[in-house]
Amino acid sequence: MVKRLGDYRAKRNFDVTREPRGETPVRSAPYARFVIQKHDATRLHYDLRLEVGGVFRSWAVTRGPSLDPADKRLAVEVEDHPLDYGDFEGTIPKGEYGGGTVMVWDRGFWAPVGETDAARALAAGELKFTLAGEKLKGEFVLVRMKHDRERRGGKAGGGRDNWLLIKHKDDWARPGDDDALLDAARSVASGRSMDQIAAGRGRAPRSFMLDAAQDADPGDVWNAARTAASRFRQAAEKGRSRRATRAGAQSAVAKVKADGDTVLGVRVSNAGKELWPADGDAGPVTKRQLAEYLASVGPWMLAHIEGRPCSLLRAPDGIGGQTFFQRHAMPGLPDSVRLVKVGGEREPYVEIDTLDALVGMGQLAALEFHPWNCAPDLIDVPGRLVFDLDPAPDVAFDAVVVAARELRQRLEALDLVTFCKTTGGKGLHVVVPLAPRAGDGIGWDEAKLFTRTIATQMSEDSPERYLVSMTKAKRTGRIFIDYLRNDRIATAVAPLSPRARPGATVSMPLTWGQVKAGLDPHRFTVHTVPALLANSAAWRDYDAAGRPLKAAIRALVAS
Ligand code: ATP
Ligand code: MN
Repeated sequence: MVKRLGDYRAKRNFDVTREPRGETPVRSAPYARFVIQKHDATRLHYDLRLEVGGVFRSWAVTRGPSLDPADKRLAVEVEDHPLDYGDFEGTIPKGEYGGGTVMVWDRGFWAPVGETDAARALAAGELKFTLAGEKLKGEFVLVRMKHDRERRGGKAGGGRDNWLLIKHKDDWARPGDDDALLDAARSVASGRSMDQIAAGRGRAPRSFMLDAAQDADPGDVWNAARTAASRFRQAAEKGRSRRATRAGAQSAVAKVKADGDTVLGVRVSNAGKELWPADGDAGPVTKRQLAEYLASVGPWMLAHIEGRPCSLLRAPDGIGGQTFFQRHAMPGLPDSVRLVKVGGEREPYVEIDTLDALVGMGQLAALEFHPWNCAPDLIDVPGRLVFDLDPAPDVAFDAVVVAARELRQRLEALDLVTFCKTTGGKGLHVVVPLAPRAGDGIGWDEAKLFTRTIATQMSEDSPERYLVSMTKAKRTGRIFIDYLRNDRIATAVAPLSPRARPGATVSMPLTWGQVKAGLDPHRFTVHTVPALLANSAAWRDYDAAGRPLKAAIRALVAS
């Protein structure tokens, strides 16, 4: 057990944080326990912890659990936590690992369904289980995302496993709940709000995990939980036998081939319709193929679009017909698509957070996906910078490659990490992930000024090759460095989004090794990309590569 908590301990300095070291004995329990801690760290998330083999196996559920079976929630597996962590509520000091406020949002008992050995079910990548908590009840499933694990080279490759947390359809499911659940914002251990916890005010949390001897306020929490658990388990048994007659509905996550006209549970109407006509050697792309494509690359793509408004280019009659670039919600949207209101604006924006929603938009003939560049769920916080290199028609593509590499050099000199992708069109995008820091004063004005400065320096150093002004007339023979993607409501096409252009090209994430003379962006199409992506290391380090823009601005000013 000491070994399993090695990671946990290595990440923390117990002289500074008041999180438990994992040395306090916990009481034995009639069932395995679970806890969900709401954690307002760099990014607000919910930590799901299931007691397995003497520790809490843990997942950071980025958007929180959902009671809607259509809402698959990304759950990033993190290091095992000690059982006494289940009682932790308070503040982790700023600058420490996980710095921020922690609330015991829900807790209770849990049990695996079917396979009774939870560790074995987890090793196999699928755990069905029931929860008997105060807020969450009924059956859920955790499914490891297969493609994702392969892409990251498994744990040995240093990757963290991504799972999906999905509510099963049962009496506790709430289709269309729209996260009303998450509004129930008080601690089940202390009744406090996040603000009260952050301020260290209000009642002390009541223990659920600790040995009776350490428990200052024993009794009713525990008894209430136990009664709830047994009542709930009886009901769950009943629900299960009713459902057993229905076919295994939930296990389609990794499949990417259409089942008739259905892709990942989404029915594709008019599935044989050609959205892209045949182009040279490549065959046409039908609506069914678009849905299959989105289902295959979706888990990869979603990380770059979830939590942000996303404009769509729709082509109901294919790329030869009329196309619509839509920023706002439109009639006929599937329920899986989230609608977000921004500021005082009346019309909501579309947000795509799940595979269901992504495939559902394919069904609506959305060919291109253009997310905002904010941090997830934080409209006013720049989450990445995008430099859009637009060559004039007479510029060779190799010159764009040279420009991208020069940008990389300039940005890395400021300690930023850069990534490159084709656009599926004429140019390249250089993308810089940021690590937003709450309250550091970095907003869109700062991001735009920074990118304009970099672009201007580059064009002043090589005016014969680059320009920053929009005037089309002056573009001949040169590359326009468009920094204007770096604004609150500006978009850039998402990595892996197809383009409504001949040949069904895709905006393909590349390794810098691929960004070299002879690079041919037309190789990357809806037909070829899924296989190419499976064998690519491109953007593998993206999640860990975010750097605070503030530090880069300081470095730029000092240089
Ligand atoms: P290319 O390499 O061919 O330039 P690109 O995606 O960079 O491909 P641009 O025309 O340079 O295309 O950039 C336009 C960006 O502006 C798009 O990425 C898109 O996110 C956004 N955009 C804003 N309005 C529109 C619109 N009406 N139609 C298409 N894109 C739009
Ligand atoms: Mn461009």
